Amino acid sequence: MSAITNHMPTAELQALDAAHHMHPFTANDELAEKGARIITRARGVHLTDSEGNEIMDAMAGLWCVNIGYGRDELADVAARQMRELPYYNTFFMTTHVPAIALAKKIAELAPGDLNHVFFAGSGSEANDTNIRMVRHYWAQKGKPTKSVIISRHNAYHGSSVGSGSLGGMSAMHEQGGLPIPDIHHIDQPHWWAEGGDMDPETFGLQRAQELEKAILELGEDRVAAFIAEPVQGAGGVIVPPASYWPEIQRICDKYEILLIADEVICGFGRTGEWFGCQTMGIRPDIMTIAKGLSSGYAPIGGSVVSDEVAAVIGSGEFNHGYTYSGHPVAAAVALENLRILEEEGVIPHVRDVAGPYLKEKWEALADHPLVGEARIVGMMGSIALVPNKNSRAPFAEAGTAGFVCRERCFANNLVMRHVGDRMIISPPLVITTDEIDVLIARARLALDECYAELQKRNLLTDG
Ligand SMILES: *Cc1c(COP(=O)(O)O)cnc(C)c1O
Repeated sequence: MSAITNHMPTAELQALDAAHHMHPFTANDELAEKGARIITRARGVHLTDSEGNEIMDAMAGLWCVNIGYGRDELADVAARQMRELPYYNTFFMTTHVPAIALAKKIAELAPGDLNHVFFAGSGSEANDTNIRMVRHYWAQKGKPTKSVIISRHNAYHGSSVGSGSLGGMSAMHEQGGLPIPDIHHIDQPHWWAEGGDMDPETFGLQRAQELEKAILELGEDRVAAFIAEPVQGAGGVIVPPASYWPEIQRICDKYEILLIADEVICGFGRTGEWFGCQTMGIRPDIMTIAKGLSSGYAPIGGSVVSDEVAAVIGSGEFNHGYTYSGHPVAAAVALENLRILEEEGVIPHVRDVAGPYLKEKWEALADHPLVGEARIVGMMGSIALVPNKNSRAPFAEAGTAGFVCRERCFANNLVMRHVGDRMIISPPLVITTDEIDVLIARARLALDECYAELQKRNLLTDG
């Protein structure tokens, strides 16, 4: 059999893909009919597909390629590390230099006394670690009944059984018997969709106080932790009202509930600080990290924990770990990625240059007849598509406008994702102001074309 390469015709590659490759979060029967888009290479903020199209990736892959594509330094580090020590584990009283160096670097960057890292291969694995860690923490402290973890509807924390249970995606809970016991969900601070007549700040406060209510209902002696993304990503880039996080922090402090900030998207510069908790002004006991940690160049994640949590978990054996915890190649790649983020001033670029520039252009999209609101923090933004700008009422046929808009983006060589009828972006952090102009121009074109199509199909009606 001849080798399968980039030079094969697209249709042949698509047929082979359909025959053998099961795609995540995909209706594979539909995909087989349509054929998957085949990405062949990437540089900076652009992807190239097998038809030779150059596409701007305003999602940074899956929110992860923070330094952009095509950085040879990471390839070189990976090759060097693979030759020197491709693998060794960190169980059974051994360690290696990449894991040591990366853990030290993360401790240096992380706020407060978050000085200790438990490595995993992904964000899902790290959140599974967190479930076991916070329950074991309370057991070690003589309070084994404190096992309930409170999360939020429409949160995303990963796709394994544990992390998928933490998440609040009902479509995921419907398949495979989720959630596991002792996970409790409260409502999200999504004012646009759920705020009714309330003003955003009152609504934010009320949604935060649902945490207090849940703690009192479940019993203080039952609750171990609260987990949340500083800014919800996969749920639709939902920026909470300013009143929300301070109230959550107050409640966690008052009832001594561990606060887990899931920084898998927000971490490593996306919000304009190293971590989203710094942007939101909160002090987590544990942070979940992955994605931007290696800019997606290698699979790695972890839990960054406080001195106190580390001390409690460290007294005796924690019966937990992954074969690839602290994988030396992934760790070396992540370390090089952090070096680039730091030495090239990528976070100040987001905070002071590209972020404010994108914010201005992004928020101006709200003047489009199809856009109800535009929200953005650093390099994560969303717009709500609406049938009628005079109200926040959703489309009668939910999700179609978002789907059409995404297709029009693709047709104009722009990757933007849709969550229902919200369009979201999360571009590489190194995007330049010129590239932002292109992004916005293509987004406007896609919105115009989407509007025309919805008009033609008589779908501009609310429900
Ligand atoms: C992507 C994501 C995860 C899961 O990470 P994986 O590496 O896909 O397992 C967890 N939390 C958040 C907030 C994410 O966006």
